[in-house]
Parts: sequence; structure tokens; C-alpha cells
Amino acid sequence: MKRMLITAGLFGLVACTATSPTGRDQILMFSADEMRTMGDQSFEQIKQKEKISTDKAINAYVQCVTAALTKPEHLQAIDASQTESWDLVVFDSDQVNAFALPGGHIGVYTGLLKAAQTPDQLAAVIGHEIGHVLADHGNEQVSRGQATEMGMQMIQVALGATGTPNQDMIMAGLGLGAQYGVILPFGRQQESESDVIGIELMARAGFDPAQSITLWQNMAKASGGSAQPEFMSTHPSHDTRITELSNRQPESQALYKQAQQQGYRPSCKVP
Ligand SMILES: [Zn+2]
Repeated sequence: MKRMLITAGLFGLVACTATSPTGRDQILMFSADEMRTMGDQSFEQIKQKEKISTDKAINAYVQCVTAALTKPEHLQAIDASQTESWDLVVFDSDQVNAFALPGGHIGVYTGLLKAAQTPDQLAAVIGHEIGHVLADHGNEQVSRGQATEMGMQMIQVALGATGTPNQDMIMAGLGLGAQYGVILPFGRQQESESDVIGIELMARAGFDPAQSITLWQNMAKASGGSAQPEFMSTHPSHDTRITELSNRQPESQALYKQAQQQGYRPSCKVP
């Protein structure tokens, strides 16, 4: 929710203080439209670069989980301003990876299905990624200007100023760094916040939130290597993350039971 305007005189930009879905204060310099444009363009670029899966069974399965999670009533329960319709592309790749972007785009790599072995586990990963979007983390990353030069480039891009727009930097700010070699990982608070949003979203959609713990345990065992996917960020640690998700179980399980009573019982067939 936008509360107040601060002008950033140097760039002539307007920054807003906002509140994330979990009640955390944020400074956001880009409008929802600007973020949507960045997300749309990044998604187009990834679709051109990566091989898109044509496997009907896999596409139907991932779409089933995604559709259950992105029902407007569930998203709006978390972020009332959420009006996006979401699309999904499954990429044929061994990468254990998934992402969500402003503009309502979700990408899932087939390699993820080896680690996220059940619909509920897959929902935990996709829910976490949607959490980053609902909480405006990409906007926050860019706005924060963690690296000044990166911030300057982002601002030039946003303003259409002269200078070479650096699409890689935008993609890094949107959590796509592992794929593109520009690492701008989400912060620990953002990761925890996405876990909180993700577990609520999966519960509201009728997926068992206890499976989020199993998923991260599987991931902790499987982790290693240099190109870690976004959701395998080293912060918070696996132990911290699993503890936090465990602490969330009582309320998540209550939401899950309520969702089932309301008829939200996704039945997605593992291919
Ligand atoms: Zn994350």
C-alpha cells in the first residue's frame, strides 16, 4: 500500500514507501507498469534463449499446479492489489530451477521435477517464487541500488535515458541472476518473506503446507555446485528456513483444511 511520496531530486524520480504483504516497510522507485514491462521483456528473452518443453503430460501437470496457485481469490487474499493473469512456460532443461516475474510470468525447468517430486512440493517452489512477485522484491532490489552502478543503469533504463540499457542487470534484479551470470541475490528477509507468502498461498490453494518442509529437506540434500537456483539461496540457511516453515505449520494447516472444505482440492497427475 502506497503511503507517502519522497522525491529523489537527483534523478527526478519519485519513490514510494510501501508495505509488503507481511507488513514490512519498503522503498519502491518503480511503478507497477515499469516492473511489468521489465518482467515482460525478461520473459521474452528467456523464452528465446531456452528450449521450451513440448511434452504434453509435463506441461499439463505443471499447468495444473500453477493454475491452482494463481486463482485470483488466493492471490488477492495475500495482496489485494493483485489483478494479474498468470502464464506459464515449461523449459526443457536439467536445471533444478523455477522463477516468477512481474507481469505474471512463471517459468519452470523440467529438472525441478526431479527434486520437487509431488504436486505439493512443486507448489511449494512455485508459491515461493510467486511470493517474490507479490511482495515486490524485484522492485525493491532495483530500488535499493545495492550496487550503485547497477542502480544507475537500472534508472537509466527506466527513464529511457541515453546509455546502454543493460538487460542482464534487470534480470539480476528480478532474481534471474543464476541463469545470466549477474548475481544479485534476494536478501534474507526477502527469502523468508517469500517462504511465508508461499506457504500461505499453497495452503489456500489446497496443497499440504507440510510438504514445503519435505521439499526443502530434499533440496538441502541435493544442494551443491556453483550455479544455485534462486530458491536455493544460501540465506536463510536450510536449517533456518526449515525451522521457520515448521513454526508456520499450525496456521498453515488450518488454512489448508479450510481450503479443502471449500472444495480447493487440486488433483494434478505426476507424469
Ligand atoms: Zn527466493
